[in-house]
Amino acid sequence: MGNGALGMFLAEELIERQVGTVVVVGPRAREAGASQAAGAMLGCFGEVTTESLRTDASRIRFELGIAAHDRWAGVLERLEKDSPTGRPLQVATESHVILNSIGADLDDVNFAAMIDALKEYEKPWSEIDPNDIPGYKPRLESRALRAVHLPTEGAVDARGVLAALDVRVRAAGMTMVDQTVRRIVSSGDVVSGVELDDGHLIEAGKVVVAAGAWSESLARTAFDDNAENEFDMMPTIPGLGFAMVAKRTGGEPFTSVVRTPNRGFACGLHVVPAGDGREYYGATNRLVDQISGVTWMADVRFLAQYSMQQLDERVAGHEVEQWLAGNRPVTLDGFPLIGWLPVSGLYLMTGTYRDGFHCAPLLAEHVADELQGKPGIIDPMFAPMRKPIVTRSIEWSIDEYVKHNLAAWFETGAQAAPQMTTAQISDYYRNMAVQTYDKLGIDYALGPDILWYVQGSLLGARRIARYLRRHRGLSAPQAQPVSAGIEGGRR
Ligand SMILES: Cc1cc2nc3c(=O)[nH]c(=O)nc-3n(C[C@H](O)[C@H](O)[C@H](O)COP(=O)(O)OP(=O)(O)OC[C@H]3O[C@@H](n4cnc5c(N)ncnc54)[C@H](O)[C@@H]3O)c2cc1C
Repeated sequence: MGNGALGMFLAEELIERQVGTVVVVGPRAREAGASQAAGAMLGCFGEVTTESLRTDASRIRFELGIAAHDRWAGVLERLEKDSPTGRPLQVATESHVILNSIGADLDDVNFAAMIDALKEYEKPWSEIDPNDIPGYKPRLESRALRAVHLPTEGAVDARGVLAALDVRVRAAGMTMVDQTVRRIVSSGDVVSGVELDDGHLIEAGKVVVAAGAWSESLARTAFDDNAENEFDMMPTIPGLGFAMVAKRTGGEPFTSVVRTPNRGFACGLHVVPAGDGREYYGATNRLVDQISGVTWMADVRFLAQYSMQQLDERVAGHEVEQWLAGNRPVTLDGFPLIGWLPVSGLYLMTGTYRDGFHCAPLLAEHVADELQGKPGIIDPMFAPMRKPIVTRSIEWSIDEYVKHNLAAWFETGAQAAPQMTTAQISDYYRNMAVQTYDKLGIDYALGPDILWYVQGSLLGARRIARYLRRHRGLSAPQAQPVSAGIEGGRR
């Protein structure tokens, strides 16, 4: 179930292995799906933050990206001949990561962490003069003072890759059903198929839930009639993102991915060459209660204004051809959910957050192995019914939250009273975070984006607090449990 990058790469992998009969169910338009909106940067080191290598769990997650990276040359060679777009699927072969002063010191520490990681893993990189980056012509007050060239991190045309996968799996005789699944059907605790929204049944011995941000609610349907097996998976949240594809009308085009480090709760500002004189500009990230394909006016302003300021002034004259909105599948602990569910024959692959397109071929290989009863190639720590992975203390979480808010504050040009200092703005956000933990009554330390989400969503806060209170005792030793609960609270 699901025809995004994860479902489609898995289908393709199963074709290659010639195993059984495979049916992919998912709406043809993939509306609001993450994959169709992705910039599809094949980013590994460009994605590094101070958190990427800080714990064993994050390091294992990071190394998934490195392993995935190695698969892409073969993927592109296979898919290129099935691509219906008439343009190369690989749109960039290199990246430039810029350090400008807009995103506060979060950029500094993430930029430094990226360089440390490149040295540790002995990958190719060099520091270059930002003025030498083709196409890079920011406004002077937003110019970068440092830039790193990553000669092996490029990007693909996400929509082209999906179209090529569609062609390839159809040509192999696989059935693609342009529908949505209403519920998973099981008898006892064994899966037996799925029921479509139009009432038809598809029988299946094995069912894989690869429905992105929709996966949690779909997986839950397998447990509705199954009183013995309670569904107690960690919450997932849609990370609504906006991006646009625009036609360049003048000036020097970008020939590589040009991006900032990850910053301010999101994946950094970036431009990706899109072929035929087009460029992809992305991307925002907003954790929301409901999946939707809407775009906030604030996000349009954000992307348009900051692309002009921080990437190229000539962007103002670009003609926007595609408005892209998609929902990233974000888990409570930020790690993927990959593995068998407690209904026999039912498998889950999701939770890939901001680099799922890049990781999809590797995950497909792993899941195909497991479906065939072979040992998988990735660590079993991402099993779907696991407890949230602990990577930080509550004090650390509050510090991170403050840093991300400061980055967002300065990037968006927020104005404080002239006499107000940065330390005072920090204190404001720190107090807000402390109050939020106090209301939640949890002892698990949240990532900055999740803390931002629960701070603004009563629904989300209740759902997450309820889950975490059932699973107390997950915190790092130095974390302080906090008191009063949100359900009885003031929000
Ligand atoms: C703006 C943006 C930019 C991004 N940039 C990058 C990037 O540069 N690099 C990178 O690696 N990743 C990027 N990502 C993240 C990446 O897109 C995701 O991690 C990944 O694509 C998730 O793939 P998926 O197949 O799990 O989910 P999705 O792509 O969301 O696919 C799920 C599919 O399931 C279908 N579906 C839903 N309900 C049902 C149902 N009931 N029955 C059947 N089908 C159903 C949906 O229609 C959808 O097509 C970005 C995401 C966004 C939103």
